Amino acid sequence: MELLPKDSLEQIRNARSLVFLTGAGISHESGIPTFRGEGGLWKNFKAEDLATPKAFQNNPELVWEWYDFRREICKNANPNPGHLTIAKWQKKSNFVSLITQNVDGLHPRSGSPSLLELHGNIFRARCTKCSEKFHLVDDGLDHSGLKYCKYCESLLRPDIVWFGEEYDQNLLTKSWELCKQSQVVFVIGTSANVSVPANLALTAIRNGALGIEINPEETNLTLSMKHHFGGKSGEVLPKIWNELFPNESLE
Ligand code: NAD
Ligand code: ZN
Repeated sequence: MELLPKDSLEQIRNARSLVFLTGAGISHESGIPTFRGEGGLWKNFKAEDLATPKAFQNNPELVWEWYDFRREICKNANPNPGHLTIAKWQKKSNFVSLITQNVDGLHPRSGSPSLLELHGNIFRARCTKCSEKFHLVDDGLDHSGLKYCKYCESLLRPDIVWFGEEYDQNLLTKSWELCKQSQVVFVIGTSANVSVPANLALTAIRNGALGIEINPEETNLTLSMKHHFGGKSGEVLPKIWNELFPNESLE
């Protein structure tokens, strides 16, 4: 059975700017727990109790322990057909942009040539004093527990945008521009509880983009979308690709 009607297929094929907005759900099939779904709790802590500046101030060991644990999961996970379809699409057309809330590094590992990581990256740390950034694996800091700056010896923190923190202005401006101009927006695996990503999607829709949501559940954004596919992104995205580009295999 066809997923998309003919007019939407045409609209997507003819679009000259397309944006993918992804959240934790796209990595769920790779075995990475979402915060709110099953497996989201860690030692009875909620993410909201750990991913905050206050939590880090009170107990940096505990916060690092949680990120070290999550980083190991990300290292051992592999991109799934959802990530791979987006990467292939970006390589095929240079007007396909990707904005993610994920910090797991699976989009770059799937070969995506360009990516805006709104919430940071779990493989990076940042100095609490001099703001220097480090790649935990490449810089030899990929051990458990507290980590210190090679330059000023101050404590490092995960290079993640925590609850209540400001976004990187540069990334945000680029993301607004892309969404304003987009003719098609795919919103994938995000509960749309965080207001910035939800507003990015709405900005695209209000500026005339065709909205397509892929999420097993309905969200606050569902009613604003032209299409909602209530399935897993690793299954729905390859099907959409095959409908759009029947002569171009995903393999
Ligand atoms: P979220 O709010 O983005 O919600 C996850 C959504 O994914 C839910 O709506 C769920 O229905 C949907 N989903 C589940 N399985 C799916 C699938 N197979 N295909 C498509 N959709 C699916 O995520 P959250 O877990 O509540 O996290 C909120 C914040 O925490 C995000 O900003 C994110 O950056 C961060 N986070 C990141 C990761 C990661 O990098 N993988 C993991 C957990 C949390
Ligand atoms: Zn420093």
